[in-house]
Amino acid sequence: MQKLILIKYGELTTKKANRNLFINKLSDNIKKILKDETVKIKKDRVRMYIETDNVERVSSKLLKVFGLHGIVIAYKVNTNTDDIKQAVLDVLKDKKFKTFKVETKRADKNFEIKSMDFNNVIGSLVLKNFDVKVDVHNPDIVVHIEIRENTYIYLNEEKGIGGYPVGIQGNGLLMLSGGIDSPVAGYMALKRGVNIDCLYFDSPPHTSIEAKNKVIKLAGILNEYSGNIRLLVVPFTKLQEEIYRNVPSDYNITILRRMMYRIATSIDKKYKVIINGESIGQVASQTLSSMSVINSVTNYPIIRPVACLDKLEIIDIAKKIGTYETSILPYEDCCTIFVPKHPVINPQLDKCIAYEKFEYESLIKECVDNIQVIDNFNTDYQDLL
Ligand code: ATP
Ligand code: MG
Repeated sequence: MQKLILIKYGELTTKKANRNLFINKLSDNIKKILKDETVKIKKDRVRMYIETDNVERVSSKLLKVFGLHGIVIAYKVNTNTDDIKQAVLDVLKDKKFKTFKVETKRADKNFEIKSMDFNNVIGSLVLKNFDVKVDVHNPDIVVHIEIRENTYIYLNEEKGIGGYPVGIQGNGLLMLSGGIDSPVAGYMALKRGVNIDCLYFDSPPHTSIEAKNKVIKLAGILNEYSGNIRLLVVPFTKLQEEIYRNVPSDYNITILRRMMYRIATSIDKKYKVIINGESIGQVASQTLSSMSVINSVTNYPIIRPVACLDKLEIIDIAKKIGTYETSILPYEDCCTIFVPKHPVINPQLDKCIAYEKFEYESLIKECVDNIQVIDNFNTDYQDLL
């Protein structure tokens, strides 16, 4: 009896036309995340089978791969009644349960016993060997038996994180700050299959190296979700100082964010979308009128995955995906320094244009030309925290 991991694609199988594309992307992502493991991967149209000598560790890594809807630790035996019976007894031997049911799926119709009848065969066997009862509605254990060319027996199915394989949707650029919201927004974009890079506006010495390291760490945490993330660090100091020199304080943040969007849009045509962590009404720059004035500098689609979530809902996700503890570390962000006392909540476009009379194009170019690219999120950076 061989122990292995069986993966269910779920949502993917409904997209018939793109199925192969999906499956291949998923298997590439799985290979990448398991690159340090010894594994043998086989795939067909409905399942993937992963053989490895460390099933537990490998399946815990798989829990971070998008496009994966069910993960099962299964036992593979030859398709014949005696072998299956023996395997069921072995699998249940150390389990604590009072009630159970058997669910047989017979994909191989050459197998002579019908599913319902086979449920009875195995059910009687279990009743004879253990002090337990059948409960078809709410059993402690479900014994799944999938009869194919080989037979797979498993008990519990662990839910995968769902979504689509990262990369299936092309490239997006995530504006990643050290806050709580933008890592969650990035996670949600990855979940829909967008291959994200991250963009961080760095304003030393007004922002510290710790603030930057925090963003590097957050990018690294996101990258574990089968990403191919590169973090682009924009040297933003000069442009930001010019904004504060030239723009009345109540419009500082509005203009600052317009500059951020301009930079994000001029980095690379391969990015089809910009993603950020704005949430309607959270701060002055995220009222609907602020968002529309800020948005008007670009014709890129801007996706705001957390726009309609409450802060507490965003925090729940941040905790679940492992970014929260890092996000709440107390380092300042470029938006939190020089924050005006009374930021405008209803900014006017003509005023923005009037305030943008200073030479910002060359500064934007300088920002873009001097981007630092980080694609190694190893512990060296994290230890600096
Ligand atoms: P929180 O409210 O948890 O601090 P936040 O950082 O997301 O989250 P804001 O500072 O209002 O909140 O910024 C809104 C969005 O703008 C962020 O979610 C992020 O996408 C983007 N952003 C803000 N500052 C930066 C930065 N320094 N670099 C890159 N993107 C940024
Ligand atoms: Mg913030």
